[in-house]
Amino acid sequence: MNFDFTPEQVDMRKAAREYAEKAMIPVAARYDEENETPIDLLKEMIHQGYSTMTIPEDYGGGGMDCVTSCLVVEELSRGCAGITTSAAANSLAAYPILVGGSHEQKEKYLTPLSEGKFAAFCLTEPGAGSDAAAISTLAKKVDKGYMINGRKCFITNGGIADYYTVFATVDRSRGARGLTAFVIERDFPGLEPGKKENKMGIRASNTSEVLFEDVFVPEENVLGKEGGGFRIAMTTLDISRPMVVAMAVGIARAAYEHAVSYAREREQFGKPISSFQAIQFKLANMAMKIEAARLLVLQAAFKVDRQEKHLSAHSAMSKAFAGDMAMEVTTDALQVMGGYGYMKDYPMEKYMRDAKIMQIYEGTSEIQRLVLANEVLKGRV
Ligand SMILES: Cc1cc2nc3c(=O)[nH]c(=O)nc-3n(C[C@H](O)[C@H](O)[C@H](O)COP(=O)(O)OP(=O)(O)OC[C@H]3O[C@@H](n4cnc5c(N)ncnc54)[C@H](O)[C@@H]3O)c2cc1C
Repeated sequence: MNFDFTPEQVDMRKAAREYAEKAMIPVAARYDEENETPIDLLKEMIHQGYSTMTIPEDYGGGGMDCVTSCLVVEELSRGCAGITTSAAANSLAAYPILVGGSHEQKEKYLTPLSEGKFAAFCLTEPGAGSDAAAISTLAKKVDKGYMINGRKCFITNGGIADYYTVFATVDRSRGARGLTAFVIERDFPGLEPGKKENKMGIRASNTSEVLFEDVFVPEENVLGKEGGGFRIAMTTLDISRPMVVAMAVGIARAAYEHAVSYAREREQFGKPISSFQAIQFKLANMAMKIEAARLLVLQAAFKVDRQEKHLSAHSAMSKAFAGDMAMEVTTDALQVMGGYGYMKDYPMEKYMRDAKIMQIYEGTSEIQRLVLANEVLKGRV
């Protein structure tokens, strides 16, 4: 086994770190405070290739493997997890097209994503969060297409997207077998972004409702087959989870690095607080947990790159472990700073707020354990 990165991976990681330091860290607190999404910066990130890394080069993307993408995403989210969430949502929305789309659909919808367009992945509804099969957005078959009615909530890029990959049911009584995936364009009549959310963390990402009222979607915008949407959604989540929780590693690292330098500088009882064993053990635990999470994330990414058939266990393991780790590490890192960590003068409280989402979106930590337990009981772990 070789843990070395290739020279190309080392270069990509270095470039992403420098980009985060130059373009993201200086503006992160402002966009967080203002609850605003930096559209121009995101467009620049798209042009830098940071939004469509895993889209094949044939469709204008970076054609990057999942391991390299995880290394890059860790660096970008060390800069700002909110901005990175919006950038990564383009890849998330692209996956259903990659997984279930035809060559024509890929050319039509993936290529513009590398040229500055935004996309959103629309699965969650007010009544269907963890239980995706309970979706009630209805796709009624009509002449030459489908009429879509319903409401999606908590959609990243929901208010700014040009394209939406949408999961709707053709028949609620069919449960998961009724789910069908569609690509819907922003200017199809009847599609409207709804309420923009005011969130605890990752505030630089846009999160909105998306409303569908008699939206006619032509047949050629169905991804895969009618009734094949649940498989497309689950495959999308399996392959996207490592990249999503590479963000958890990035947030935790930002908090840890800040805590280490603070502990070296801050003096109490006539000594740097880094000389107290209680603080040293916190720093040691943080370093250990971040390393363990990164290894799990990269292992899951490696399996995605090898196109292994059963990805769910390792994907869920990395998501649950890294998500929980980010919350633990940011909480301990804030503790190292005492009262100063609690103040908005320092970035630490933002890291802790940003970390919380890692246990919630793309499937909560509980749902990851459910997926994992299922694989354990099938004897696959
Ligand atoms: C900032 C943000 C961005 C998001 N972006 C997107 C996006 O781009 N696209 C999208 O489709 N969705 C998105 N989501 C939605 C997100 O994926 C859901 O919030 C998440 O899946 C949980 O669903 P829920 O909020 O309805 O919680 P619920 O499903 O109601 O869960 C509530 C609690 O019950 C637990 N629970 C539920 N079922 C079980 C069970 N069977 N066993 C044990 N515990 C259980 C959960 O773990 C959780 O703790 C986003 C959410 C947020 C907050």
